[in-house]
Formats: sequence, structure tokens, C-alpha cells
Amino acid sequence: MQIPIAKPFVGAEEKEAVVQVLTSGTLTSGPKVVEFEKAFAAQHGAKHGVATSNGTTALMAAMMAHGIGPGDEVIIPSFSFFATASCVLSVGARPVFADIYPDTFNMNPAAAEAVITPRTKAIMPVHLYGQPAEMPAFEALCQKHGLVLLEDSAQAHLAAIGERHVGTWGTASFSFYPTKNMTTTEGGMVLTNDDEIARKLRMIRAQGMNTQYYHEVVGYNFRMTDMAAAIGLVQMGRLPQWTCDRVGNATLFNSKLESVRTPVNRDGYTHVYHQYTVRVPDGVDREAVTKRLNERGIGVRVYYPLPIHRQPVFQNMGGYDKLDLPETEKATAQVFSLPVHPALTDEEKQYIIEEVNASC
Ligand SMILES: *Cc1c(COP(=O)(O)O)cnc(C)c1O
Repeated sequence: MQIPIAKPFVGAEEKEAVVQVLTSGTLTSGPKVVEFEKAFAAQHGAKHGVATSNGTTALMAAMMAHGIGPGDEVIIPSFSFFATASCVLSVGARPVFADIYPDTFNMNPAAAEAVITPRTKAIMPVHLYGQPAEMPAFEALCQKHGLVLLEDSAQAHLAAIGERHVGTWGTASFSFYPTKNMTTTEGGMVLTNDDEIARKLRMIRAQGMNTQYYHEVVGYNFRMTDMAAAIGLVQMGRLPQWTCDRVGNATLFNSKLESVRTPVNRDGYTHVYHQYTVRVPDGVDREAVTKRLNERGIGVRVYYPLPIHRQPVFQNMGGYDKLDLPETEKATAQVFSLPVHPALTDEEKQYIIEEVNASC
């Protein structure tokens, strides 16, 4: 058996939608992008959606729209994908890392508060693996200290706390990379409830102009194509069912896996299981377990094998080598992710359960 960690699905409707766009002659951003922005924002209960070329440019546009730049600090977790930090560096600001909760792997608001300085401009929790970060606490923290609240929602389409979706607390960046819970091939989107931030995002995405050839700020070309948006419109229709499938697969694994620590889902939080991430018990060699499972055809992966602040690029930037984030370090050494995608068959799920239980 060969079970990949992710299995992006593109059906006949997506193919037809792309052909329609090509036939229409709109080869860049056009009416499909506008339609996709409105639909994705509405699906999450946010006022505005601004589509971008990918999740990384969505994060960069969010930083720029809030005027984050040199001299500013942005508090983020170190236990995430590198783009969470590179967007801060890209605008000339300084990433400041806060530790995570050992059970949910999400940034701990108390740890974030402890590293606030007069230079802190924003806090950006990541909804890691698809579980919302503790947004009510981060919202209160940002109000108390006058900070901008951002969300790295790249892994958390339709994740929610109670009835409220991620993407409605702060300026929130999503990714539609092929392995994410839905795809547009490459693609991203920023959601915001703030009219002025939405206006700035649209300018930054398209050469700094709202009126053609009148450039108010230095902008970029972060545009999404209508082909990508047309795929996204079909995929977001599939997303609610796919999310149920992911949650169903995770619920099954939670009840059957015995040899590893299964994910902790906070009460009232909708975890959308972009990844199903377990921990090996203390003292067990994670590398031996993942090697065996990969040899047995189960595409397990480690997200992420090195905390961001320990990446080579940070080693000459001053101070990061002395940083102590014990929960981040421990999680880095113990986690691995199992296939949880909607395409898993009953037979594959059974095989995964048996093999994981036999592995440590
Ligand atoms: C995927 C991802 C990104 C970047 O998105 P791209 O579309 O690949 O540029 C940013 N942050 C996190 C947490 C991600 O998982």
C-alpha cells in the first residue's frame, strides 16, 4: 500500500471552469476573482476578501496594509511554516517568537504577552494544523496593548470557535496551495472586516493603484488569475464535505490509536485537520517510527523538523540563538503527521491504525 500525506483532488467541474475562463479571454485577474473573493469571504463571515497569487504574498500584503515595517516587532510562534516569519522579515520588521501550548501546538497568549515591548506592532497567531489559536485571548491582548491582530489562516479554511470562523478576528491570510484543504493551484486570500485595510490590500496587490496608472503607494504584482479563482469557486463548494471527511477520519484515529498521543481539540473549537499530528511518547525515537511507517507505505511527515528561530537564516541576525522556547523544541522532536485527507479509503484507514499501533 502507498498512502500519500496529501492527495489534492481536481474534478471535471474544475477543468470545465478553467476552459471557460480561457475561452472568455480573461488571462489575468477579472470577474472570477471578484466572484471568488465575495464567496470565500461570505463562507467565513468576513466583510472583504482580497485574493492574491499565493499564501505568502497574502501574508506580505497584510503586513504592508497595516504599515508594518522597519523598527516594528511582530509576535509569532516559532513552531510553524517558515512563511509565518519570512513575511515579517520581507517588510523589514523583526519577528519575535513566543512559545506554544504543548497540547494544541498553538501560540500561548501568556507567552506572547510576556514578549511585548514598546516596538511591538502586531501579534499573528497561526491556526496550526487547522485548529484555531485562542483568538478571544489574543483579541483581548491586542485591545489592551493597542496592537494589530493578524491571523495566519493558511491551514485553517472553515475552522471556527463556536460559530465564528477564523478570518474574522484579525486581518487573516489564507493559502490555496495544492496540499491545503482546498486549492486554486497557487493562490491566497486576505480576509478583513476593515474597509480601509481592504482598500490598501487591493492597492498593494496591484502596483499601488486604485485608479489605473495613478500610483498612491509602492505596490506589487500579487494578483490571482481568473483561472485560479474559477478553480477556487468549485473547490470551496466541496470544502464543507471535505472538512467533514477530515474530521471523521480524525475522530476514527482518535478512538483507535493507542501508541501515540493523539491531537487535543479544545472544547467548542472546530479543528479542520489540515494535518493530523500526533506525538511519540517521551523516550521514543520519532525518527525510527517515521522511518518504519514510510517503509510500510504510509506517507508520514514531520511538520516541522526545525523551529523557525533555529533556521540557518536566523543565526546571524542577533539574539535568536539564545532564545529558549522549551515547548516548541519538545514538539519539534516528537511530532509527526499522518494522512487524514478526504480520499482515504476504509482499508487505508484500517492499515494506518494497525501500523501506527505496531510502531511504537
Ligand atoms: C502554506 C503556508 C503558508 C504559505 O502559503 P503558500 O501558498 O505556500 O505561499 C504560510 N503559512 C502557513 C502556516 C502555511 O502552512
